[in-house]
Amino acid sequence: MPRRGPRRRRALGAVTLLVALAAACGVPGSPPARGPQPSALPHYAVEKDFSLPSSPTWTRAHQRGRLTVGVKEDQPGMGEKNPATGEYTGFDIEIAEMVAASLGFDPDRQIEYKAIASANRETALQNGQIDTYVGTYTINEGRRKLVGFAGPYYIAGQRLLVRKGNKQLKGPQDMAGKKICSAVGSTPLQRIQSDYPRAEPVAYDSYAICVDNLLNDQVDAVTTDDTILLGYAAKDPDHLKVVGKAFSEEPYGIGVPREDHALARALDDALVAREENGDWKRAYDVTLGLSGAPAPKPPRVDRRLTS
Ligand code: GLU
Repeated sequence: MPRRGPRRRRALGAVTLLVALAAACGVPGSPPARGPQPSALPHYAVEKDFSLPSSPTWTRAHQRGRLTVGVKEDQPGMGEKNPATGEYTGFDIEIAEMVAASLGFDPDRQIEYKAIASANRETALQNGQIDTYVGTYTINEGRRKLVGFAGPYYIAGQRLLVRKGNKQLKGPQDMAGKKICSAVGSTPLQRIQSDYPRAEPVAYDSYAICVDNLLNDQVDAVTTDDTILLGYAAKDPDHLKVVGKAFSEEPYGIGVPREDHALARALDDALVAREENGDWKRAYDVTLGLSGAPAPKPPRVDRRLTS
């Protein structure tokens, strides 16, 4: 199954997001929001005759004729599935596309996306359900014992999402006695549990469920990466806001099966090449950059092997 239809349809998603993000900025008198034209959306050149026989994962995907990529489906701006069209959009999806193209897979026809929740990423990579994972996936030492990583390709930071009218919760210092929701198996949940013992952690499978609970007054805040929280706030600026400074560093990696060093290094090469040829910035500009924040300098890929 191709991941999505023609690029024209995808452009609509980008325009919708821009409208939402522009509304979130709420600058009075700002010109009407305009998204990128379909022709301006990045199209990632597919590497012809690419071959990586030393990678068992790549070899299997090549024989199958498509790369199976684990992603998120409910994180606007990063990885979101349109339930009507089945199309995926967001910065992580662009990253998945550009590196797939570098490995010789045509993003429009040869990527199969599978939505995998935070808690199930390592198992999905270990049991071969997916070839790679691109979904707000923080590289850390604990995870390096279970999977391999390419990257990092972006550095996010943990913050808090609260109801618009909340004047008390302004940052992590105000979490004592408050119900703080995050996703099972995520680094933000771990951090709340280990570093903020007076907070009351609440865990669900996904941040989207946490956001529903926040809107229904069941929890006081949602905590995870700024990338994710800003996407939810942009979609519902009348009811939600992101508060406080980032209180962690979350370097995003592309997850791969642990022993497949050849694949991890090929993905590192792909990321460096796409940063150098401008594709990384183009991807940022049509997704996270729609909020108005200029593209940061991409982090250096660290080319580390598993620990
Ligand atoms: N980046 C964090 C993590 O990998 C939070 C986002 C997520 O759960 O995907 O745990």
